[in-house]
Amino acid sequence: MISRVAIYFGLAAVVVVGGIAVADLRMKVAQAPAAAADTSAAPQPAEPTAPPENLDVTAPTAPVAEPPAEAPAPVVTAPPAEPPAPVVTAPPVEAPAPVVAAPPPPSSPATAEDKMTAKKLFAAAQLPTLGKAMAIGYYPRGCLQGGVELPVTGPTWQVMRLSRNRNWGHPSLVHFLEKFAPLAAKVTGWKGIMIGDMAQPRGGPLPFGHLSHQIGLDVDVWFMPMPNHVLSKEEREKTSAINLVSDDWKHLNPKTWTPQHIAFIKTAAEQPNVERVLVNAAIKQELCRVENKSKDDGWLAKVRPWYGHHDHIHVRLKCPADSPNCRKQPPVPGDDGCSGDALKYWFSDKVLHPPKPTTPAKPPRPLMLSDLPPACKDVIAAPAKQVSKAE
Ligand SMILES: [Zn+2]
Repeated sequence: MISRVAIYFGLAAVVVVGGIAVADLRMKVAQAPAAAADTSAAPQPAEPTAPPENLDVTAPTAPVAEPPAEAPAPVVTAPPAEPPAPVVTAPPVEAPAPVVAAPPPPSSPATAEDKMTAKKLFAAAQLPTLGKAMAIGYYPRGCLQGGVELPVTGPTWQVMRLSRNRNWGHPSLVHFLEKFAPLAAKVTGWKGIMIGDMAQPRGGPLPFGHLSHQIGLDVDVWFMPMPNHVLSKEEREKTSAINLVSDDWKHLNPKTWTPQHIAFIKTAAEQPNVERVLVNAAIKQELCRVENKSKDDGWLAKVRPWYGHHDHIHVRLKCPADSPNCRKQPPVPGDDGCSGDALKYWFSDKVLHPPKPTTPAKPPRPLMLSDLPPACKDVIAAPAKQVSKAE
């Protein structure tokens, strides 16, 4: 019984955590400018299909028959289950999200907003709400009240892809980055860091690129040093992140991987309010190889393998104390994730060479406002906080 329960939650975890992270692979692709796709590596094969409307990206289209991340934008009416870390001893298979109490149906009569997809509504909100900051819901299903903006250029950071208007987050995320950027610069010797997507001004589902990044607690940071000059808007659109993984997806690329990357990842994972740091499995494997286990203070356990993430880390913060409606992700399991089948799984044929499905995957139903926590309806309706957009 215990093991059945464990497996069940393990599987659910994979599905849900997959949902959170899979879109991040798309992010990798999304980081390449449309006209100059990242040719430094073939896309990792097992990325699940993106819903058609997600495709501003060149994500591989081969859908996976089975495993982890076939987590289309959550289609269930129940909120996604709280996933334990995605570590299972058996290869994950698709499992239904555990049934959790469904959110109450909207009490008011259907409005025009109810008929729009949540991503359209949230992408249209150019400014954050008034009111105190709160992360609402779960990383792949929620929104953000009182979001704050990270200045696009700081002493030790620059934000990329300004056209996306995704340099917003809960204040804890902005504070994290203001603290992490100089630390990372110091341990790597880099001039600073390059920051990819955070969240939209009011969070919510993104029109493309990720399933998570919805509640203002997720951020992508590129695996490359900030250049010496302040990048122009155009450069911030066109510059691509550096890929650290070899074409076979099993090794690191010796031309791009450096010991500084270890310090960079470790510094992120060591920050106390960091919940997870997602990296490609080949990178996790290398960290396991070089890390002095006797001195490991627990940071390595927070670094988890996931699809993509060969050109950036995804840092996820814990739910902040001021956000009672933020849904916690269960802590990572006690081990460092280096031994056993959990890591090996990522190098199996199932992941690297999945069989082609015989029937095309059905695109998931898009999330509607009513699929999000009820408070997100208020977030969409709330008056805007007038802020002067940073240049
Ligand atoms: Zn991300």
